[in-house]
Amino acid sequence: MSRTPLPNRMPLANRMPEGVAREAVIDVGAIEHNVRHLARLTASEVIAVVKADGYGHGAARSGRAALAGGAARLAVADIPEALQLRDAGIDAPVLAWLHAPGANFADAAAARIELGVSSLEQLRAAARAGSADRPVTVQLKVETGLGRNGIAPADYGRVFAEAAEFEQEGVIRVLGIFSHLSNTSPDDDRTALSRFTVAQAAAESAGLRPRLRHIAASHAAIGLPEARLGCVRLGVAIYGLSPFDDRSSADLGLRPAMTLRAAVAAVRRVPAGQGVSYGYVHRTERESTLALLSIGYADGVPRAASGAGPVAINGHTFPVAGRIAMDQFVVDVGDEPVTVGDEAVLFGDPTAGVPAATDWADAAGTINYEIVTRIGPRVPRREVRS
Ligand SMILES: *Cc1c(COP(=O)(O)O)cnc(C)c1O
Repeated sequence: MSRTPLPNRMPLANRMPEGVAREAVIDVGAIEHNVRHLARLTASEVIAVVKADGYGHGAARSGRAALAGGAARLAVADIPEALQLRDAGIDAPVLAWLHAPGANFADAAAARIELGVSSLEQLRAAARAGSADRPVTVQLKVETGLGRNGIAPADYGRVFAEAAEFEQEGVIRVLGIFSHLSNTSPDDDRTALSRFTVAQAAAESAGLRPRLRHIAASHAAIGLPEARLGCVRLGVAIYGLSPFDDRSSADLGLRPAMTLRAAVAAVRRVPAGQGVSYGYVHRTERESTLALLSIGYADGVPRAASGAGPVAINGHTFPVAGRIAMDQFVVDVGDEPVTVGDEAVLFGDPTAGVPAATDWADAAGTINYEIVTRIGPRVPRREVRS
């Protein structure tokens, strides 16, 4: 070993807990803070979106933190996700809006899940699941230009008229009307908003009086005030991530809730010209130290970020060296005094001097949403509160 230790200048190494190869540290205090901040900023009722296991942060954990931060309600994509929240003991209102063909609305109704309804068929199925003793709460999802689900403008009249009849019978209750924006441009979103106004007027002339109206997710809730409508559905921002390319979490007053970290599992001093990982796409330029981290693409570290994704170790940031493998990848730390057991942070809160999830998204050619939601089940979540 030719490495010269620098005991006097060595920054205090952050160490991983013993026996932990990798983990995602989830700061529920950050989620609470973000919801509180966004509720104040938007002056709106917050529906916290905890689909896809709370964007990888844990659905029930994130839901509880969001409710503690002042969210009025929760939302997920589908009914099985909603039932998981109930199984976890969460009693708050939960909306599910994307249904499998033949989805079990009766189970959903029994668990008091609010059903997003995107078609006449779904409306009728919801009505069949309800009774005058126990009406099913529905929210009507209308298509305003995104081209996904939602009641088509040509069907507004017919669906709203039937909804009003079912409401008269007492088998459903229409709590809300909502849609979703494309975030293409402020003008495109304003066009969708004006279509939404048309849908609302049609609902009212059919005799419906939905208390909630919502169209804005994180992007429009923050960036397009006229889209707030007194109620917003917030996903990525409650986890402290920015939905904008040109504004950071800190710019928006948000705190990233997830820190993904791994232990340095092995350290090797190598000569110049050493090939690193499959395909030798990286070779050391000079004598150097290679640090091995036991986290890989099976854990959600995108292989597309090979050679590029940033990792902070002991106050320095290094790119991935060579290819990311299924279970591991290597960082070339040069002459830095890195030792086995040191903490390597892939991303977290950049105000703490570590990379952002967005840096990994940029390195992999994707968005921060995909980075956090794909962190895999082999990565234990450690809940903390700051
Ligand atoms: C995922 C989703 C949201 C949340 O979006 P963010 O951009 O993460 O805030 C809101 N509404 C619908 C319909 C969604 O599918």
